[in-house]
Amino acid sequence: MYEDKKQHYCKSLSSDRYRHYNDDLVELGALKKSLKEGRFIVYLQPKVSFADRSVSGAEALVRYQAEDGTVIAPVQFLPVLEDAKIISILDIFILDFICAKLSEWIKAGRQIVPISVNFSRYTLAEQDFLAQLKAVFGKYRIDKKWVIIEITESVKGIEGMDFTSLIDSIRDAGFAISIDDFGVGYANLSLFGSTNFDELKVDKSLVDNIVANKKTQMVIAFIMDICRRMDIRVVAEGVETEEQFGILKRNGCEQAQGYLFSRPIPIQEYEERFLAFR
Ligand code: C2E
Ligand code: MG
Ligand code: MG
Ligand code: MG
Repeated sequence: MYEDKKQHYCKSLSSDRYRHYNDDLVELGALKKSLKEGRFIVYLQPKVSFADRSVSGAEALVRYQAEDGTVIAPVQFLPVLEDAKIISILDIFILDFICAKLSEWIKAGRQIVPISVNFSRYTLAEQDFLAQLKAVFGKYRIDKKWVIIEITESVKGIEGMDFTSLIDSIRDAGFAISIDDFGVGYANLSLFGSTNFDELKVDKSLVDNIVANKKTQMVIAFIMDICRRMDIRVVAEGVETEEQFGILKRNGCEQAQGYLFSRPIPIQEYEERFLAFR
């Protein structure tokens, strides 16, 4: 799914800079060194409930901090890690970081909300993915309800992987599954019939169109309806305006994420702004 974006960035970045991230990440030793040096940082973006605009969750979004302090977006380095088949190291690192934070917050008496963590299809395709997931939770001893596993819908297309039974086994182990970026690319109705999941994130590209395009509004209404019938929570991504918010709310959307409420922010800022004491 990053292919197009990657090509775009390869062209638009000066080739020197691009080579710089490449060299830093492209093989396992270099990736581990970057992890150890703390070059990967986690931002959090709150999710809010439509009912009262209270924070109902947050999504962990990784960034890479270059030596000169520049913060680099995932679209610029995730493809490199995916191509090198070492993305799972980063994904599990982010999960570990989030579980450590949650455990710290619980101990400090902060009022926490579930955190969503993104997983690449290559990570999911790993034989011991579930074992790795369980190991992290065993390490921090936190309830699985505090982490939501986000998976992009296009994982269905991965070769040699039984998506439905993998998702079932993750859910059987007690984790909630969220289907990310729904409504672009492979958007496929058979997903609802074949796969059990807990949350659906409507892609920003649909949200972008709801004000100008009546048909997109109907598509959104249809998605809301099928999710209501199946007891799946709906989250709208990339909500930037009050007008979009209003239309989504009228259609029964439960949660929203987007610049209208907050951009992804560094952990410390998130703690200051959104983590109340119990
Ligand atoms: P995503 O999971 O769909 O995350 C939402 C993206 O939309 C984020 O981009 C977020 O900053 C952006 N966004 C949220 N609200 C708005 C808005 O109102 N307007 C606009 N224009 N953008 C908004 P970001 O942080 O650049 O992440 C891009 C993608 O990188 C993510 O898309 C996710 O697929 C992937 N990603 C991020 N962190 C991780 C990770 O730890 N592991 C893996 N495997 N993928 C990750
Ligand atoms: Mg996501
Ligand atoms: Mg998304
Ligand atoms: Mg998206």
